[in-house]
Amino acid sequence: MELQELLENARRNEALLKRLQAFELQLLSAQNWQDFLTLLLEALPSQFELDAVSLRVCDPDGDLKASMLQSLDIDQGVMLNQIEFKSSMPVIKAGAISPPPPWRSGLGLPLMRNGEYLGVLNLYSSNSERFQSGMATDFMQHLAAVIAACLVMVKQSEQQALLALTDPLTGAENRRGFERVYSREWARGQRQYHVFSMILMDVDFFKKVNDVHGHGTGDRVLKMLCKTLRNTIRPTDHIGRLGGEEFALLLPGCQPDQLLSVAGRVQQAIRDMVVLNDEQKRVPVTASGSFMSVTPRPHQNLELSQIIDHLDGFLYQAKAQGRDRFLDASA
Ligand code: GH3
Ligand code: MG
Ligand code: MG
Repeated sequence: MELQELLENARRNEALLKRLQAFELQLLSAQNWQDFLTLLLEALPSQFELDAVSLRVCDPDGDLKASMLQSLDIDQGVMLNQIEFKSSMPVIKAGAISPPPPWRSGLGLPLMRNGEYLGVLNLYSSNSERFQSGMATDFMQHLAAVIAACLVMVKQSEQQALLALTDPLTGAENRRGFERVYSREWARGQRQYHVFSMILMDVDFFKKVNDVHGHGTGDRVLKMLCKTLRNTIRPTDHIGRLGGEEFALLLPGCQPDQLLSVAGRVQQAIRDMVVLNDEQKRVPVTASGSFMSVTPRPHQNLELSQIIDHLDGFLYQAKAQGRDRFLDASA
């Protein structure tokens, strides 16, 4: 090799190394799936002139996918299309791979962390000479090690964040978690003129359940209630525990004309719940509630607390009218 060519190579390598280091620093500061996946699936290809990137991850019990779904906004969920979640996958070595068409060359980078195989990142190029077998991959393997470490860190930090937003007894979102869901849905509604619906409900005579059957039975009622709600509404709907036995549902995309029947279904599902007390006797449970649809408008800002206050007025009326009823609170 000519001296000139060697120097040119060295300069190119140094420039690549600098870019990689800068990218690794960005990755290390990612705290959540959105930051991490945006870097990997959008910034990596654009900063390194790649034509495509794909990620395949080991996810035997579906935890990873669930964590990403929980944390990503519905709009950002499209990023998940670029990720394959596998229950098991063969371990590969770092090196050139034959790319799927239309790409002309590819590099497969295994993601390993403390001996555990987490998945593989594939880089593709339309240049057939970009990745060739026998080429040195140490820089890229270093990048893969950083990506693997970040994947584990982000997973842990997302789990912590989720814990802080979840009610431990029922698994519903706590007030903070529900506030977050609400502000996301509000912002999405503003962007897309998207309607969503809300139901507020409160268990009837719950103090009596505790007094007569004990606090343990009361807790069982709350757990069963959330399980029942979960099975009655759509997977993309949200349940928030706003207080002791007061819950709110947020139903994205639920139109005003559908809401009455959803509320009716919820009310009936609660009546049908089978909760047993310590003597194995059935404890009848009903709830009262109110519901309304919301269409966010641009330049308008409606706080969750304003909606809850409005619904609360109708909930109070439902209680006064004898309980076990859901009232339409549409303005
Ligand atoms: P109403 O029909 O008017 O709603 O009457 P209520 O008895 O349901 O209402 P009240 O607000 O008087 O009682 C709520 C009870 O809920 C009192 C409180 O001790 C109980 N509670 C709150 N959180 C929990 C919990 O986590 N577990 C149990 N078992 N009880 C709870
Ligand atoms: Mg109550
Ligand atoms: Mg109450």
